[in-house]
Amino acid sequence: MSVSVTTFSQSLSRRFPVAAHAGTTVFQEIEPSDGSVSQIVTVSNREILHRMLIKSGYDARMADSARAALQYLSQEAFDLVLLDLIMPEMDGMECLRRIRERHPIDQLAVIMVTADADRRRVVSAFGAGANDYVTKPIDRDVTMARIATHTQLRRATQALRDSEERYALAARGANDGLWDWDVRTGSVYYSPRFTELLGYQPGDWSDTASEWLKRIHADERDHFLQLTNSHSGTSDTHFELEIRMVHRDGSYRWMLCRGVYLREGNHDLVRMAGSLTDITKGKVADPLTGLPNRLLFLDRLQCAWQRYSRNPQSKFAVVFLDLDNFKSINDNLGHQAGDQMLITVARRIEQCLRRADSVSRGAGDPTPARLAGDEFTVLLEDVDSTDGVSVVVKRLLKEVSQPIEVNGHTVIPTVSIGWALSDESATSADDILGRADQAMYRAKSEGKNRSLQHAASLSPTVQPNSMTTC
Ligand SMILES: [Mg+2]
Repeated sequence: MSVSVTTFSQSLSRRFPVAAHAGTTVFQEIEPSDGSVSQIVTVSNREILHRMLIKSGYDARMADSARAALQYLSQEAFDLVLLDLIMPEMDGMECLRRIRERHPIDQLAVIMVTADADRRRVVSAFGAGANDYVTKPIDRDVTMARIATHTQLRRATQALRDSEERYALAARGANDGLWDWDVRTGSVYYSPRFTELLGYQPGDWSDTASEWLKRIHADERDHFLQLTNSHSGTSDTHFELEIRMVHRDGSYRWMLCRGVYLREGNHDLVRMAGSLTDITKGKVADPLTGLPNRLLFLDRLQCAWQRYSRNPQSKFAVVFLDLDNFKSINDNLGHQAGDQMLITVARRIEQCLRRADSVSRGAGDPTPARLAGDEFTVLLEDVDSTDGVSVVVKRLLKEVSQPIEVNGHTVIPTVSIGWALSDESATSADDILGRADQAMYRAKSEGKNRSLQHAASLSPTVQPNSMTTC
């Protein structure tokens, strides 16, 4: 790339000769680090000025009219224009206005060339977007120094813009949100991606830290406050922590929050900035089966309980499955075979839920999970009948127990299932899960390969014993 300067004027060199005294060459000063040369357009046919630019290492073009200059600018990228204020046909002011229609002031420098008497017009030229001016007769050293300053500024601005674009693209590619916290004013910049990660538009958030704090899970809030406390006295340069933040839809998302501390001098923390990455998927997925893990299941269960507590009509059911005799698979066929069986069972559970209609599996999306080992759970939300859940449970019992080919062996897995409905006698989400677990153990003790509903969640009309077999 070369830096170009365009000089535009009308035969002014003859009337206002360029100062001819010897000056310092500015070539070394303006040569960019990448070895490229500045391109300059001179709207002038002052050949001395033109030669001076060429001699100083610029790639200079000379335009003999404003129209010729605009033509140059429409065809190539230039760095600077030297523009005479007074020219026939189209004067410098009109030419400047047209240049600014297409070239912002920070992307193309325009230096006006004018006589002392035109100073009032120079003021108008600044208002119209001129970057600088030089007066006639032209002082070579002053002119070259100003050209050097503006071409360097133009390069620095372009480098900064490139850097910002590169960073923005990298951040977008990483799918991260960005934040920038001014500790002195308390204001926080949140990038659009930051708010989008939590289901919000940028306009939904103010630039305060409280927008962030109020969405952090209570269990992680103190740690977050500790790390972002400007008076903590920490000498760390970076911090990193995992926090849960509540999404607009009410669910919690796991976020990896990274930040860097910026201090004034050695002590005072003045700024923090960093990124926010949604790690929910990796955090809450069981690596073997891909199902939600215990962490996510318990979160969803807690949310279901809270909804039920607010509105008892929002009933939910917890189904607890445990494979029968799974240990013998591992012992006799190896752990790889055991893993294969767990994966197959996970897919079968998902298929059962997909095929169940909304009446039986609940109006909301069901959440299947691998709780641990050979234990699986299903959360059915917005269920309105015991019968509906019973249909799903029967299907799970039947589908999971289909033969599986493992390492050349046909294995018929069976499963014991316990389940419980939310009801007024339950005291917590854990209580419901515990009831389903109890029912599952009862099913085991009664011979395995069966399902039982926990008694407390039976409707009075169908409650014969403490447990009932589906
Ligand atoms: Mg088991």
